[in-house]
Order: sequence, then C-alpha cells, then structure tokens
Amino acid sequence: MKTNFDFLMPSVNFFGPGVIAKIGDRAKMLNMTHPLVVTDKFLAGVADGPVEQTLNSLQAAGVTYSVYDGVEPNPKVRNIQAAKAQYLAENCDSIITVGGGSAHDTGKGTGIILTNGDDITKLAGIETLENALPPLIAVNTTAGTGSELTRHCVITNEETHLKFVVVSWRNIPLVSFNDPSLQLDVPAKLTAATGMDAFVQAIEPYVSTNRNSITDGQCLQAIKLIEENLREAVANGHNLEARSGMVEAEMLAGMAFNNADLGYVHAMAHQLGGQYDAPHGVCCALLLPIVEEFNIIACPERFRDLAIAMGENVDGLSVRDAAELSIKAMRQMSKDVGIPTSIKALGAKPEDFELMAENALKDGNAFSNPRKATKEQIVELFQKAYDAE
Ligand code: NAD
Repeated sequence: MKTNFDFLMPSVNFFGPGVIAKIGDRAKMLNMTHPLVVTDKFLAGVADGPVEQTLNSLQAAGVTYSVYDGVEPNPKVRNIQAAKAQYLAENCDSIITVGGGSAHDTGKGTGIILTNGDDITKLAGIETLENALPPLIAVNTTAGTGSELTRHCVITNEETHLKFVVVSWRNIPLVSFNDPSLQLDVPAKLTAATGMDAFVQAIEPYVSTNRNSITDGQCLQAIKLIEENLREAVANGHNLEARSGMVEAEMLAGMAFNNADLGYVHAMAHQLGGQYDAPHGVCCALLLPIVEEFNIIACPERFRDLAIAMGENVDGLSVRDAAELSIKAMRQMSKDVGIPTSIKALGAKPEDFELMAENALKDGNAFSNPRKATKEQIVELFQKAYDAE
C-alpha cells in the first residue's frame, strides 16, 4: 500500500444518458476552433450514433472539424502517422476521440507525435513526454478500457508486433464523456470482452504493489457493479440501467489502475494482442484466473476481499479457501458472458511463448504485480492458459 501518491484523472468527466449534447459547448469553452475527430469507419457510418451526435453538437456550437476515421483495433503506428498528417494538412488545433480504447489511444498517440517527436516507439515508458499534447476531449463508447481518463497510450508496432505503452500525465484528456446511451447497440460479444477488461482493471489494482486507499475503494465498488450489471448488459444490451452500471464500473476501474497500476494479466495480454492482433478484453479474460491463481500466495487476504466483493460466501472458511473462491468467481464470470476457455482461440502458438514471456516481463504493467515471476514461470502461465479447458 502506498502512503504517498499523486491522484490523476481528467479535470472534468461528464457521465449519464444524454451528456453527449454538451460536447459542442465544452469544445468552445476550451477554445477548440478546428478539432480532428478521431474514430473508426464503423462508428463514423452509424446513423445517429456516437460520431454523428458528436458532430451535430459541434456544429450547433459553431465549431468546425475534420474527421479521421482510420482507427484500427489494437491501433498501429501507421494510424497515428496518418492522423497526424491529416491534422497538419487540415490545420487542426485540437483532438476529439470518439470510440473505445483504440480511438482514444490513436488520438493520444497522434497528440504525442505532434508535440514530442515523430517516433513514438522511442517514447515507450513512464513520463517520457516533455511537451503538452494539443487539447484533447475523449467521448467513450465502450465499457471498457478507461482510456478516456487514463495516462496510458497503448500502440502496436506493426513491424515488430510489439504492443507498447506511453504512460504520462500529459496523455490524460482534458474532458471525458461517458454517455451510456451511446452503448445501447454494442453487440453482446463486444460487451462481454470490454466488460471483462473492466473487471480485470478492477482486480489487478486491488492486488497491485502500488495500490492506495482511494483505489482500493474504487476497485471493490467497480467489482460489485460489474457483478450486478455485466451479465445483464450482455444478455439485454438495451437495458440502460445495466449499461449505466457498467459505465460507472469502467470509470472506477479506470481511475483505479490509472493510479495503482496493473499486473501480469495486462503485461501478458499485451503480448497476445501484439502478436495475434486479438481483442484486448478477451486476452485479459483468458489470462485472469491463471495469473491470479499464481498471485494468491502473495496476498491471500486481498483475494478473500475480492471473493466477498464478487458475492461469494466466505463464512467459516480459512483465508486461503476464501481467496480461492475469488478465482472460481472469475472463471464463472468469463463462462457466463461467453469468453472462450483457452488462448488457442486467439491463434496462440507455444513456440512463441518464450519471446512473449521475455517481453511481458519488460512491459510497464509487470512491475506492480504482487508476486515476482521468472521468465520460465511466465512461459508456464502462457502454457496453462493454452491448455485450459
Ligand atoms: P476498440 O476501441 O478496439 O473497439 C472495438 C470495436 O468496437 C471497434 O470495431 C469499434 O468500431 C466497436 N465499437 C466501439 N464502440 C461501439 C459502440 N458504441 N457500438 C458498437 N460498436 C462499437 O475496443 P476497446 O476494448 O474499447 O479498446 C481496446 C484497445 O484499448 C486495445 O488496444 C487496448 O490495448 C487498449 N487499452 C487502452 C487502455 C488505456 O488506458 N489507454 C487501457 C486498456 C486497454
């Protein structure tokens, strides 16, 4: 537990059904005269969807804009280079991201290379940015990564297949929008994958070596909300209450890991995502019970707390037995929302595990994991995730 810490999040976070209508006025208040709206082709084409509603509000406020719609899942260096070229060619002065983690990270990455040098791969690591990014607003449409409010920018180097993270307070958007009504049409499979990402982002900071008392509370409340709402959001996507619960949970989890960091689940998930271009939330979900089973001996009391937050009855059980129930609950959640059981489903190959383990231990998320592993132990964890049935 840390006793001296900074606590970072955007200065303004709009939350609730309908808040998206405020974005035009907020852009004007920030003196944005020509933002580059960063999104993907699918969202840009949805009638009355998140992008159209954003553009309508900007238009109503008299703010002109350009749209870059080339965001790819697991965004690549080529995406931020293309967005930067458009930003400069069309004389933009600010950035608005609309989408999930991929859109936000593309917008952050574009801002980074506009003001901190063209080669983002050299800026991987913690607090490497010397200059402020252009003003940035994030409109979030998945629940989710928390990227709309975090200091992380996750980009994939398409040449090396390495996913890397630029972690800096300068990456935090000035304003975040979390309007759950924008998520009513998120398909069940995507709801499950992104919801499991939020679940992992509530669990890893709770056992992180960098945790603090504020993040502890955020993690437990996020887990409770996910337990109450994720299954329903997957089964009945149009349930606004369940969507709102998940948005609140992903914000809490985002704030928690932004300040307490993550662990081996994310360090290893980045290898799966980079190597096989696999959906981030699914990578995290598949690794979660395997990694946390390994971590239990480092802080069993913490895992007992997690079991209670997940609704397990721990009365009369030893700490260790109660802790084990949290792993059972993690597996049950994955199963209920339809996550596959093995990383085979992502195209993983055992011959890649050695290099992936080496890179996982270098990933920024590895340093706050509660139990330290050797490369051989990480290879074993990948193998267990591969053999899981
Ligand atoms: P995503 O942004 O990659 O989006 C996945 C798909 O969902 C896209 O095809 C998109 O068009 C679609 N989509 C998004 N919103 C929708 C909506 N409202 N309705 C219908 N479809 C919608 O998915 P994600 O899980 O949000 O982001 C994953 C990325 O975020 C990964 O690259 C991951 O590494 C990164 N990440 C970043 C952070 C951070 O703090 N920066 C944290 C965790 C993960």
